[in-house]
Amino acid sequence: MSQKDWFEKDYYKALGVPKDASQADIKKAFRALAKKHHPDSNENDPKAEARFKEVSEAYDVLSDEKTRADYDETRAMATSGFRMPGGFGGGGAGSGQGGGATAFDLSDLLGRAGGFGDVFGGVFNRGGGGASTGARRPRRGSDIESGVTLSFDEALTGLTLPLRLTSEAPCAVCAGTGAKAGTTPRLCPTCQGAGQVNRNAGGFAFPEPCRECRGRGMVVDDPCPTCHGSGHAPSTRTVQARVPAGVKNGQRIRLRGKGTPGENGGEAGDLLVVVTVTPHPVFGRSGDNLTIDVPVTFDEAALGADIAVPVPNGGTVKVRLAEGTQNGRVLRVRGKGVRRKDGTNGDLLVTVQIAVPARLSSDARDALKSYADATAGQDPRAELMDRAKDAKSGGA
Ligand SMILES: [Zn+2]
Ligand SMILES: [Zn+2]
Repeated sequence: MSQKDWFEKDYYKALGVPKDASQADIKKAFRALAKKHHPDSNENDPKAEARFKEVSEAYDVLSDEKTRADYDETRAMATSGFRMPGGFGGGGAGSGQGGGATAFDLSDLLGRAGGFGDVFGGVFNRGGGGASTGARRPRRGSDIESGVTLSFDEALTGLTLPLRLTSEAPCAVCAGTGAKAGTTPRLCPTCQGAGQVNRNAGGFAFPEPCRECRGRGMVVDDPCPTCHGSGHAPSTRTVQARVPAGVKNGQRIRLRGKGTPGENGGEAGDLLVVVTVTPHPVFGRSGDNLTIDVPVTFDEAALGADIAVPVPNGGTVKVRLAEGTQNGRVLRVRGKGVRRKDGTNGDLLVTVQIAVPARLSSDARDALKSYADATAGQDPRAELMDRAKDAKSGGA
């Protein structure tokens, strides 16, 4: 139990007593609940165990009037929207406001407060809050977003490509110290190098970043002219980004640990690569399938034929048209689509489009005329007319 818990936990609610409950009432409520949820009478019931722990913890705090008063004070702060001051690491200007606020971890500040007496000592393991210093605490680097534009074929096969990234890094001139060449930073006299100072609030000390050194623990008398004493400088680095086969337009790829390096031994952030895929003049995509429209002649469709259809990355595949293939028919060529994660491939979906010649040679015209004579009895619209008529009579 640390005082971090106090911000989050309602011990009165845990015991089911009002905030002004007497010690006798608290004891009574606790005894009843502890008996009900005791591990001895609730074997292998994690819910009861958690509840028992919660009740014991609440009683620990509320049964001691002094601890209870501290708890009440902490809770009053928590419910009034109290915010910890953020901004370790020199991100802010003077005021102590800075980009570090989101990475701020309350438990590190309050963890040192230590535990309290446990009437059921030994029943459960308690995670003790170890002391740590906020300014030296490992911090995860931030995530970076970057974009790449790939050709359609590159997206299908996947590739590894170098990405140039610009991010904040230690200044190369002063090696991150912020001090001019030939000088060294000295220990901050205000915080003695700790990077933080204690401020009294609500009966116990809250550490906050030292203003003199902006949480760095060191002060610079002659600032480095390159970084103006910040110790940071934009740095460009190249990251090899592996784009998997079959990536889609608009997809985000997360490359773990390729973002901003962490501080004080913290892990690096991630690099998010947003992929833009250039449309292909011939192929389209539908999930893991590729699509293509293929013109065929009337005679190929009517008589049946083997036609060559292009596949991505060059080459063709032979597709058999059955006799009497209709316009708009979709033929499936298995395994010629997009590579999936499991190593299999989607399909190539070929849409048949019957092409009508805009011009005919006289031989072709003669041949078509004899074809028309030979099929004079066939009216392709006869059924259509019948259905239109049926619909009309049915509606009247
Ligand atoms: Zn300081
Ligand atoms: Zn510098």
